[in-house]
Amino acid sequence: MSKFWSPLVNDLVPYVPGEQPKMANLVKLNTNENPFGPSPKVIDAIQAELNDSLRLYPDPEGESLRQTIAGYHNVRPEQVFLGNGSDEVLAHIFYALFQHGEPVLFPDITYSFYPVYCGLYNIEGKPVPLTDTFEINPADYKQPNGGVIFPNPNAPTGRYLGLEHVEKILQANPDRVVVVDEAYIDFGGESAIALVDKYPNLLVSQTLSKARSLAGLRVGFAVGHPDLIEALNRVKNSFNSYPLDRLALAGAKAAYEDEAWFQKCCDSVIFERERVTNALEDLSFEVLPSKANFIFARHNTQAGEALAKSLREQGIIVRHFNKPRISDFLRITIGTPEQNDALISGLKSL
Ligand SMILES: *Cc1c(COP(=O)(O)O)cnc(C)c1O
Repeated sequence: MSKFWSPLVNDLVPYVPGEQPKMANLVKLNTNENPFGPSPKVIDAIQAELNDSLRLYPDPEGESLRQTIAGYHNVRPEQVFLGNGSDEVLAHIFYALFQHGEPVLFPDITYSFYPVYCGLYNIEGKPVPLTDTFEINPADYKQPNGGVIFPNPNAPTGRYLGLEHVEKILQANPDRVVVVDEAYIDFGGESAIALVDKYPNLLVSQTLSKARSLAGLRVGFAVGHPDLIEALNRVKNSFNSYPLDRLALAGAKAAYEDEAWFQKCCDSVIFERERVTNALEDLSFEVLPSKANFIFARHNTQAGEALAKSLREQGIIVRHFNKPRISDFLRITIGTPEQNDALISGLKSL
């Protein structure tokens, strides 16, 4: 605390990102990064952009990338909003669309950035408990609110909610924006982007950090009705007109132009996810059904914290949340086949 701080800063509870350890040779399965690198075409595109034009500001509208994303998802460019990672997109969503004097609803077990944005903007958040099987129950979102947000698949559970259930939440909230955070949608789920023309209250956010292996480039976007996008643009242009730099714009565009690479990476992650799930079940873990690039698992006798600690001693880093209901779970990112083998034999040795 300092007398120089704005009063709000005293009460901020910031997000704690998964650790990025400096040690080499770690089996790093704690932050849901893609174990496979980005497409070589992405690297080429970024390298081609490393020239004198860096003295110029990038396109503030990211027109070319928005066209690419719009074409990919079969929507119009004015339905696409770009941000510096989807975290920034989400921050603008909270500011632009969730301040209605009523609590914003999100699952009790979910992405821990949502309550942080509530704190930053002084918005009340209301956690809605997942069911006993860690599922979202659409009926629970039929109550007064200032907006609804949930990841699909949910994080850290990995559980996917079918689009027919997403539609129930949309239909229950015609006067509020429902945000579906699809950070992990490419690992087996079906995107709600197909529904944006049907529901003017639907906003879908996605990121290039996970399925497209570009966590380091910081590119995310939202798709929805142009009126929602307009609200986001007003906030963005009151905050930072150039959230995406030239390298990010070029690299992100190239990522969408190498569909084969993308498919191969997703297929490998999905294949490995099923293999790791089976191996952990053989080791007496309960593994929640996942459509993400991670699994959420608890052992039937061993405590989660102790397991995470023992794995760490073997150089294997997974994520453990010291929170009610999930303190015995480990969230384990799906790695390369070699990393997954290391995880499985590490757990066997315990
Ligand atoms: C990783 C993640 C994000 C953030 O992605 P960035 O684009 O890297 O900011 C958003 N939501 C969820 C649920 C995530 O897991």
